[in-house]
Amino acid sequence: MRENAWSACSQQQIENIGLFSKEYKSFLSQCKTERECIKYFSALLEENGFVKLNKLIQNKTPLKAGDKVYAINMNKALVAFVIGKEDLQNGLNILCAHIDSPRLDLKSNPLYEEDGFCMFDTHYYGGIKHYHWVALPLALHGLICKEDGTKIDICLGEKEDEPVFGVTDLLPHLTEKEKGFNKLLSKQEDIEGEVLNLIIGSKLKEGSAKSKILDILAAKGIQEKDFYSAEIEVVPAGKARDFGLDESMIIGYGHDDRSCAYCSIRALIDGQTPLKTAAVILVDKEETGSPGATGMKSKFFENMVAEVMNLLGEYKELHFKRALNKSQVISCDVTAGFDPNWTEPYNKNTEAFLNGGVAFSKYTGSKGKSDSNDANPEFIAKLRKILDENKIVYQFTEMGKVDKGGGGTIASILAEYGMEVIDAGLPVLSMHAPWEVISKLDLFENYRFYKAFITGGNQKICAGTPNG
Ligand code: MN
Ligand code: MN
Repeated sequence: MRENAWSACSQQQIENIGLFSKEYKSFLSQCKTERECIKYFSALLEENGFVKLNKLIQNKTPLKAGDKVYAINMNKALVAFVIGKEDLQNGLNILCAHIDSPRLDLKSNPLYEEDGFCMFDTHYYGGIKHYHWVALPLALHGLICKEDGTKIDICLGEKEDEPVFGVTDLLPHLTEKEKGFNKLLSKQEDIEGEVLNLIIGSKLKEGSAKSKILDILAAKGIQEKDFYSAEIEVVPAGKARDFGLDESMIIGYGHDDRSCAYCSIRALIDGQTPLKTAAVILVDKEETGSPGATGMKSKFFENMVAEVMNLLGEYKELHFKRALNKSQVISCDVTAGFDPNWTEPYNKNTEAFLNGGVAFSKYTGSKGKSDSNDANPEFIAKLRKILDENKIVYQFTEMGKVDKGGGGTIASILAEYGMEVIDAGLPVLSMHAPWEVISKLDLFENYRFYKAFITGGNQKICAGTPNG
């Protein structure tokens, strides 16, 4: 077992961890979609002196060291920069996290009627265990875009007096039992995606449950065809909360990867003006392989680097290529935490433990490190220095036993520019379940590491940190 870092914490450290966790819980409870994250982070960046890059481009306003800028991509991805003292062609220090999480999405034709119920048809997003999504209260978050250009924001099921929705489940009494083995239940572990349908109503209008729901929607200005141009995500209803009698952990929806996204933005905001330009990239679509205009594979990030370089008066294609090539990246993503209830697929010696601090994965991938970025020891040595100088708690980990699975992150996409990249984030229990669990201590250490890295690691961490 890894050393549990709580025992070494002073009273002041515990208070700092508690305060940061409280702010994080508030963020996580409010932000359950990519768009909600972008809205929240834009406001936070603006409050802290960041200005929209677009405005500067329009006005041809030059940039200089210490300037803070950000750009939003289709309301679902973002990049923010703090301009450093060195030329951009010397490279950037980059934190990159994703803000999409597994969930159910409404289909384009979601409404239908079945046996007196009105239903919403869904198509799941990302790697879910289908059986996790039955028999729990679900909320609807998203938006509907109307032909006249107006948008209707949807957030339904989070307030006490609002209704919630759900995919119901079969009772145990009606599951066929055989040789002590519950056949139907075992089938349910492979619940087909097509079965994940939300019940949204049961009152009738002229014999039809769907007509009744259409009436309610019409009163809100929504026609059935408006779902063609909607983006509605079905997520667990309710807030992030403390977990455990000792309140050492947090249970919430979307720690993967909003815990790392939150730590990244806070690190950028709270850090001092760095030598090298600091950047935070928040992307969508990681859970489906990072495709599309808002995923990491899009050109958005490099386009924005080019714009920043242009406003710095440094732009040349060669300078631009050097800037990317010489950059260093923390691929900020969570990893699997060792689970005392499910020990079989883990190797205790190499697994990430909750309360063991920032979890580094030199490589991810599966079956012989396939499709993985494999971080260079030269880069890791630099990071060890930052970690040790700032007394940050950390662990070097793998995800599960060899050949027992694996996964990928956006690390390999950024590595294609020739950047030094490593994965570092928090261990998570119940990852990709509707309610995931993290340690508050790991969250805070993660934030402290990101801040040390983004400011170049050569300055002591500022106030509000245990060892600062
Ligand atoms: Mn994930
Ligand atoms: Mn992730």
